[in-house]
Amino acid sequence: MPKQVDLFPETPVTRLSGVGPERAAQLARLGIRTVGDLLRHRPRRYEDRRHWTAIGDLRMGEAAATRGRIVAQGLKWFRHRSQSVFEIILEDGTGRLHCRWWNLPFMEHYFHQGAEVMVFGRMAGMKPRTMDHPETEVAEPGEETSIHMDRIVPVYPLTEGVPQRWLRGLVWRVLEACPAGRLEPFPDLRVADLPGSARALRQLHRPESPDDPEQARTRLALDEFLDLQLGIQRRRRHLQTHAVALPCAGTNRLIKPFLAALGFTLTAAQTRVLREIRHDLNGAQPMRRLLQGDVGSGKTVVAACAALMAVESGYHVALMAPTEILAEQHYRTMLHWFGPLKIPVRLHTASRKPPQAGSAPGAAPAAPAEGTAGLAIGTHALIEDAFAVERLGLVIIDEQHKFGVAQRERLVRKGHYPHVLVMTATPIPRTLGLTLYGDLDLSVIDQLPPGRGRLRTFVRGAQQLARVHAFVRQQIDAGRQAYVVYPRAEEADTLAGIKAVTREFERLKTVFAPHPVGLLHGRLRTAEKERVMAAFRANRTRVLVATSIVEVGVDVPNATVMLIENAEQFGLAQLHQLRGRIGRGPHESYCILVAHLKSPEARERLRVMEQTTDGFRLAEADLQLRGPGELLGQAQSGLPPFRFGDLANDLALIERARLLARTLLKPPPHRGAP
Ligand code: ADP
Ligand code: MG
Repeated sequence: MPKQVDLFPETPVTRLSGVGPERAAQLARLGIRTVGDLLRHRPRRYEDRRHWTAIGDLRMGEAAATRGRIVAQGLKWFRHRSQSVFEIILEDGTGRLHCRWWNLPFMEHYFHQGAEVMVFGRMAGMKPRTMDHPETEVAEPGEETSIHMDRIVPVYPLTEGVPQRWLRGLVWRVLEACPAGRLEPFPDLRVADLPGSARALRQLHRPESPDDPEQARTRLALDEFLDLQLGIQRRRRHLQTHAVALPCAGTNRLIKPFLAALGFTLTAAQTRVLREIRHDLNGAQPMRRLLQGDVGSGKTVVAACAALMAVESGYHVALMAPTEILAEQHYRTMLHWFGPLKIPVRLHTASRKPPQAGSAPGAAPAAPAEGTAGLAIGTHALIEDAFAVERLGLVIIDEQHKFGVAQRERLVRKGHYPHVLVMTATPIPRTLGLTLYGDLDLSVIDQLPPGRGRLRTFVRGAQQLARVHAFVRQQIDAGRQAYVVYPRAEEADTLAGIKAVTREFERLKTVFAPHPVGLLHGRLRTAEKERVMAAFRANRTRVLVATSIVEVGVDVPNATVMLIENAEQFGLAQLHQLRGRIGRGPHESYCILVAHLKSPEARERLRVMEQTTDGFRLAEADLQLRGPGELLGQAQSGLPPFRFGDLANDLALIERARLLARTLLKPPPHRGAP
């Protein structure tokens, strides 16, 4: 059947007989370009055509598959030919079934009197028996009925112009023509309780029992996870065999005076993590470490200490933040901490190049004078090509979940295998952690600094807003500050979102007068953002109305109220991030979630926020409720799309893939005597 008998998973579908340019374009719309894609096109459901429901046994409201011969058909127009209904009547000896399609007059051409038709649909009426818009297949005389009849039949997602039967036939024939050996991506692998990949594909497309599809899914998901884990572990192997670590553990020359002047002592957790980092910076291989610590746990000071170690050793450090606001805040903090130690600190964002770089655009910033290693802070602009650092020893990436894996890789390639420390407050559920950060070692700050006031969370309805405002006002009168986060996450910095937040800003100026209110959103110019943040930090503005751009990292300990409107439209993990902006000082803090929906489920979901401040529990709940895309944000481009794998529920499978990947890779070559 295929034009070219020799099929491989890589073979383009255009080589298959029956697939001309038009079909190829249609298949491409389904993401199918190769034989491999075709075989991994996952059925959306199955129909057991070994047992049909007789028309006479169809019940009201139930979805069922049945079949019969067309005894009558007709198209009716009404309302001056602006609307139509097409109807066929099927008969199977036990009764008659009417199938109707509204305003799809061309359906007429698909059917003819006497044809055998299979339908799947829900009964919409009993007198006469009627289904509206059922799925149908017409049995053509002389075709391969064994594919479509008397078996459990896959039903595929389609696109305009592609008939179900044609696609099913194509998959079937390709499966037939492709030697099983070529469908095993990991031929050396034996998995005791699961079928091989080739067999799994047969179970997927030609199941013999109702359990086959799920078995197939599990095996094919395992293949997807294996692919990913092999990539992760190969990268790691490569690093271990090729990269020579720069000696960056430092001398304590700068850290000692730094800690003495800091004004607080590190928590036990911070100290432990620093020991782990120092150990890495002293090691034979470059550090690849993920530092996880809940919001407010004090990751910045740990980053500062790590930076000092590298600087003491004579190496430069790059610190990358996901937003300009956060980069700016780190810049101030680090200037304040490192200035007295005479360590150069530079800020490098898209809109603010370091003054030293004043020459031609694209030119590398002037390197600091020989011997004075320093710290460069920036956003993604830091990874743009203009930025080239001599003696880059350590790269610190703050709030990693906002960066794609690709960005992380690009920055790392700037230097010669610098050490890398990735910091995140997103408590990544284990499935995601293993998939996204499988190549990183993990350190956890599991303790908050002492002396923090209590943080409480309340869910309120929109009708209670006046009382909520009165409460916020009391806090401001008492000297505290408040954030009011307004539009929903998705439209935060779109024009509509900005209009909404601006309207809210005008309203709240009156509500809280005479206390000054500030406005912050993503479309402001950098200088304006800086001015707004500076005023809030200095307690000159008392209320900051903002989009969710205040979500990450912002640290103003005097702010004790986080009021979030339309809270039902945010993910739990994001709400937790926003809530992390308060509870940073000694005063009691209040997170108030105002739900604007009447739906009780939406309120219920928010109650989890009242019950726990444990970021892990919230992230798990979020992953279950909204899936990984929501949890990680759009920027998270590192994840491949899974057709079979399910990040919310396949933890056991992911762990298994990790172990299997290890056994598949040969042990690393011996690196010489210790
Ligand atoms: P995050 O982990 O969310 O990035 P930050 O690094 O912004 O948290 O720290 C939150 C606040 O806690 C900052 O104001 C910081 O100076 C302060 N802080 C950090 N460590 C300690 C500590 N050991 N004792 C007291 N305050 C600390
Ligand atoms: Mg932070």
